[in-house]
Amino acid sequence: MNSPENTVSSLPLRDDLRGMSPYGAPQLEVRVALNTNENTHPVPPGVVEAITRGVQAAASSLNRYPDRDFTALRESLASYLGHGLTRENLWAANGSNEILQQILQAFGGPGRSLLSFVPTYSMYPLLALGTGTAFIEGERDTDFSLDADSAARQVREHAPDVVFLCSPNNPTGTALDLDVVSAVYEAGEATQTVVVVDEAYAEFARQGTPSALTLLEGRPRLIVSRTMSKAFALAGARLGYFAAAPHVADAMRLVRLPYHLSSVTQATALAALAHHPELLATVEDVKAQRDRIVSELTRLGLTPAVSDSNFVFFDCAGDAHAMWQGLLDRGVLVRDVGIPGHLRVTAGTEEETTAFLAAVRACLATA
Ligand SMILES: *Cc1c(COP(=O)(O)O)cnc(C)c1O
Repeated sequence: MNSPENTVSSLPLRDDLRGMSPYGAPQLEVRVALNTNENTHPVPPGVVEAITRGVQAAASSLNRYPDRDFTALRESLASYLGHGLTRENLWAANGSNEILQQILQAFGGPGRSLLSFVPTYSMYPLLALGTGTAFIEGERDTDFSLDADSAARQVREHAPDVVFLCSPNNPTGTALDLDVVSAVYEAGEATQTVVVVDEAYAEFARQGTPSALTLLEGRPRLIVSRTMSKAFALAGARLGYFAAAPHVADAMRLVRLPYHLSSVTQATALAALAHHPELLATVEDVKAQRDRIVSELTRLGLTPAVSDSNFVFFDCAGDAHAMWQGLLDRGVLVRDVGIPGHLRVTAGTEEETTAFLAAVRACLATA
């Protein structure tokens, strides 16, 4: 079955997909998996029961297509977000990756471009590729920060159709100042650029970090995307969503597949949202472990970045791949994001954090 004639490249693939690699965070069996920024706390039993009841109720009508407009879910997401949003402002899909893909299907595509500022979320270029959108690599400062003047200048220079701003940024972990978002939006006025702020980690931000949701009023081309995969500890449920002006949600109806959110998905997300205080109860624990990682790595002479998320990006003062392997040999899987001298670790439970820090100390001692 593995003869050369059976490889992907032997197929009549689109030219722009030839030789490309798929998204591939390793899914290895390890004692401590801290490589994909999941909330490592299990779903609390009360929420499991609520989801089970919701799914059971949905099961008896699985012979019918789901509510194509997921009205109850949009209502519930709007009330969770607050900021005066209503269900008309909300849209949801199977993870925020599908949200971003639908945005590119509607506003990107062949002959159009997406600008983002690297290093950033590794899925952005892949989503651009899949939708035939040209990906433009914008630049950050040497410390990976992004300021309003530089971002706006790059938007004017490249005149992209879409900009993705990741805040807090993955893999570096730091949130953007809102003046960067408003400067990018204004710089895109002439070209009617659509500006997306990917706030996948917003719930973990440090106290006083404002959300781009506060900028939506009066900005019809601004979209703020969120997910239930991180703080909500529901990565397996696949539910992402955005808030924007109502006509942006209407544009998504042109590109989504009919009935894209299954009845099971809708029931799961609704039950989870009804219990969001319980689900989000682990956020403070995770933030405490994150802060512990930052201070402990600093004490060990390494240089972690400021984090508003549930992960820490750090300069490991040497060969990142060697440390990645050293940690794995000790049962701890972190992420080598391909940036020389740097690694990214998810803040998990207290025990997982302890195991990670012990493994780092052991690696440094043998280096
Ligand atoms: C994890 C992550 C997402 C979430 O993707 P889902 O499809 O919602 O699971 C989105 N954006 C960024 C930057 C992420 O790191």
